[in-house]
Amino acid sequence: MTNLINNKSYDRLIYLDHAASTPVLQEIINEMLPYLGNLYGNPSSIHTYGIKSKIAIQIARKRVAMLIGSKPSEIFFTSGGTESDNLALKGLCKSIKNYQNIKNHIITSSIEHDAILETCRYLERDGFTVTYLKVDKDGIIDKTELKNHLNDKTALVSIMLANNEIGVIQPIKELSEIVHDFSKMIIFHSDAVQAVGKIPINVKELDLDSLSLSSHKINGPKGVGALYVREKVKFEPLIQGGGQESTLRSGTENVPGIVGLGKASEISMLNLKVNSQYLYYLRDHLIRRINEEICGKILNGSLEHRLPNNVNFTFLGLNGEDLLTKLDEDGILVSTGSACSANRQQESHVLKAIGLNHDEISGSIRITLGIQNTIDDLEKTVIVLKNRIAELRKLSPIKYKFDK
Ligand code: PLP
Repeated sequence: MTNLINNKSYDRLIYLDHAASTPVLQEIINEMLPYLGNLYGNPSSIHTYGIKSKIAIQIARKRVAMLIGSKPSEIFFTSGGTESDNLALKGLCKSIKNYQNIKNHIITSSIEHDAILETCRYLERDGFTVTYLKVDKDGIIDKTELKNHLNDKTALVSIMLANNEIGVIQPIKELSEIVHDFSKMIIFHSDAVQAVGKIPINVKELDLDSLSLSSHKINGPKGVGALYVREKVKFEPLIQGGGQESTLRSGTENVPGIVGLGKASEISMLNLKVNSQYLYYLRDHLIRRINEEICGKILNGSLEHRLPNNVNFTFLGLNGEDLLTKLDEDGILVSTGSACSANRQQESHVLKAIGLNHDEISGSIRITLGIQNTIDDLEKTVIVLKNRIAELRKLSPIKYKFDK
């Protein structure tokens, strides 16, 4: 990796890690620049500069709301997906603890992002009981299992819209229907960080009480996100202070970031159809070419219910991290899973949940596509993959017999 850092030709790298982060589009940078320059006023100030910042935030709020079909007043800006998930789960649980103290059961899935899982573990330490729903080999939640676990103590159900490692899309509308048929009092939250901007989302049609999204996954800047909270649903704030963001989230607003998220939302909404069609085309091409060229592999997660930009393969008889390093040397940037767990070198809980064994998990890589990628990028990737996989398999102590 060091040789790439010293070598300045970043533009020749093939970036295939868009689930980790995306490039900020030039139009978005242009829209943000004035708020990093002359328009530096605090939106709480009532002079011209303050008013300009406040208006910019109002425009951004409308744009985010349009993208997910909510009212602007139901959008609260945060520092990103992680904070939005924390705010939804802890914010709700705090309000219940304060006022009811009897509802202490949460249902989530075993394949959530750590932003949800770690928050659930924190809440368990605080007296809540958490049910972690299993998924099938395709990564899909069993609706009957959800139904069976709902009870009078259930306060919250949190199920991600699409998974960050295998891109599997859950049947959220059916799941929220099951929950709200059981009780309208149960909050249904969805972490939609990976799904927003890739597939159409309408929080009203999906009957969601809250939803998290993050700017840097949709070609916006890092460190900014939003939480949608359905009107009349009450969450306790996690941060006390000046009461910006309608008292739910205090702290002087990150105006350039919010403006960037707003613009990213507008662009995502306008281009959703064309972009997702293009991504499906790239994804299906890549899967087909890998199937044609490389033996001894497993596509992880459902193909049918999958984000348009996600490809996750296990290549048997090698280590995914070794493969990632080899691809990096050849200028192709992929991932072995979620960026966070990759840092911590932990075995993927998602691949484990869909039934992969230790060797299969360690041989997996995630390729996530973006609108800047081309068929040419993918053809180069397949050639490099084929050569590097053959090289690593020769060195591997485990020898597999592959059909092809
Ligand atoms: N939820 C999911 C599904 C994610 O993929 C991520 C980031 O990868 C997050 C939450 C956290 O978002 P952020 O990086 O904005 O904190």
